[in-house]
Amino acid sequence: MGYTLAIHGGAGVIPSDRMTPAREAELRAALDRALSAGEAVLAADGTAMDAVTAAVCVLEDEPLFNAGRGAVFTHDGSHEMDAAIMNGRDRRAGCVAGVLGPRNPVKLARCVMERTEHVLMIGEGALGVGREAGIEEMPADYFFTQERYDALQETLRMEAAGTLDDDPARRHGTVGAVARDRAGGLAAATSTGGMTAKRPGRVGDSPLIGAGTFADDRTCAVSATGDGEAFIRLCVAHEIDARMRLAGETLTEAADHVVREELATLNGSGGLVAVDAAGRVAAPFNCEGMYRGWALEGLERSIAIY
Ligand code: ASP
Repeated sequence: MGYTLAIHGGAGVIPSDRMTPAREAELRAALDRALSAGEAVLAADGTAMDAVTAAVCVLEDEPLFNAGRGAVFTHDGSHEMDAAIMNGRDRRAGCVAGVLGPRNPVKLARCVMERTEHVLMIGEGALGVGREAGIEEMPADYFFTQERYDALQETLRMEAAGTLDDDPARRHGTVGAVARDRAGGLAAATSTGGMTAKRPGRVGDSPLIGAGTFADDRTCAVSATGDGEAFIRLCVAHEIDARMRLAGETLTEAADHVVREELATLNGSGGLVAVDAAGRVAAPFNCEGMYRGWALEGLERSIAIY
C-alpha cells in the first residue's frame, strides 16, 4: 500500500476577511514545502517517524507558523515551546515542554524518545539531552518575529482594558504532521509555541500523549491544534483511537465526533489531522479554518486553509 502524509499549520488562521492574496500564497507555499520534505522521505521508503520529523522541522523553521521560529510570546515576553513525537509501531514517544533553545523542538522530543527511558521532559534536563545529541540551538532572538511581538502587546493592552478576546489569529497556532509509511507504520508529531500571553509554565496539549499527539499502528496517528486546555481535558487524540478500537468507528466518524460534538461541550475550538492504518486522512476542525495539507501516494496534493 502507498504512503500518506498529512500536515497542519494550526487552527489559528487569519480570518478570511483579513487574509491577503500575498499572505495566502506564502502560507500555501510553506505548507507545500513541508509536504515535499515529508514526502521525499516516504517516497524513498523511509519511515513515518522520519517523515513527520522532516515535515515538522520545515514548519518550525517557517516564521509564519507558531512553532520554532515565529513562536508566540508568553505573558513575560519570552518563548516556551512544547513538542511531541510518537511512533505507532511500538508506541514509544518523546515530549518536551517549556523549552527555549533548540531550533527544532521536535528534534529534542525525538531525542527524549531515543536517548532516555522517559517520555516527557522539561527544563535544563530536557535541554541537556539535546546537547548530548548535538542538536542545533539558536539564540533567543532567532525566535523573535515582529508580528508575534505585536500580537503580545495587543493582547496585553486588551487584558489591561478588560476586553481580552480569543482571536485565534492573534493567540493561537501550532504545527503538526501524521504519516503512514509504505510498511504500514504510523507516526505523529506536534510542535507549538502555545498561546500568546500564556502564563510562564503553562503547558498545552501538544506535548501530552493522548491529548494533542498520539499514534498506534492498529488505529490512527493524530496531531491536534486548538484550545489546548479543552484538548487535554477531553484526551482528544486518544479518544479518537479509543472510538476506533472499541466502538469500531472509522477514522472519519471518530474524528468528526470528537471535534464537532465533544469539543463543543467545552467550547473548545480547533481541529486536527489524522491518518488511519489504511492511509486514509481526516482533517476536521470546528473553527473558521486550519492551515492543512495532505499527500497520498499517486494522488494529487491537497492544501487548504478554510
Ligand atoms: N494547542 C496549542 C496549545 O494549546 C495551541 C494551538 O494549537 O493553537 O498550546
